[in-house]
Amino acid sequence: MILEVVNYGHPALRKKGERLESVTPAARKFIADMFETMYDFKGIGLAAQQVGVAWQLAVIDVRGVTDRPSTLELNGKPAPVDDFMPLVLINPEVKPAGNAVPGPEGCLSFPEIYADITRPESVDVNALNDAGEMVRFRCGGLLARAVQHEVDHLNGILFIDRMTRKDKEELRAELDWLQSETKAELKKKGPSKTGRQSAQ
Ligand code: ZN
Repeated sequence: MILEVVNYGHPALRKKGERLESVTPAARKFIADMFETMYDFKGIGLAAQQVGVAWQLAVIDVRGVTDRPSTLELNGKPAPVDDFMPLVLINPEVKPAGNAVPGPEGCLSFPEIYADITRPESVDVNALNDAGEMVRFRCGGLLARAVQHEVDHLNGILFIDRMTRKDKEELRAELDWLQSETKAELKKKGPSKTGRQSAQ
């Protein structure tokens, strides 16, 4: 099922996600819906907050991008990135493992808005996968950027929080417009009821 992706201005995007203690059948169905939604929107990552659910859960698949390389290391040895895609991250923790570099980013919750964001070029990741197993790996390039962008979402942090002041000023009018559009939509709908909350 394709879920509704919420835009900047929706309060769910500022919520820190709750940890998932186990991967229930309902959570698995939700993960499948998140992938379906992400592919439909042609994204490479999607966090639960972006579909209105404040959980520590994100999905990623960088296989569709061929002009921006990704790397992955398991126990210090290079491993094929594709073998780990699609990737489910539950309760993820990241630690920087490389120098900070700028790179272009967009976000499904900010349609048509792009900017360069500076982030560590590689990170160590700990997370549960959708089988409830702990996974640990180091990743670099586009995958590292995607992981950090999604983990930010899970903590209520948005890429605009990491933009340079200059970029944010240049985008100010678009951001303000998007935020007010989202708020107006929410008002029209009345008290928020995201059906997904019942997926717990
Ligand atoms: Zn995003």
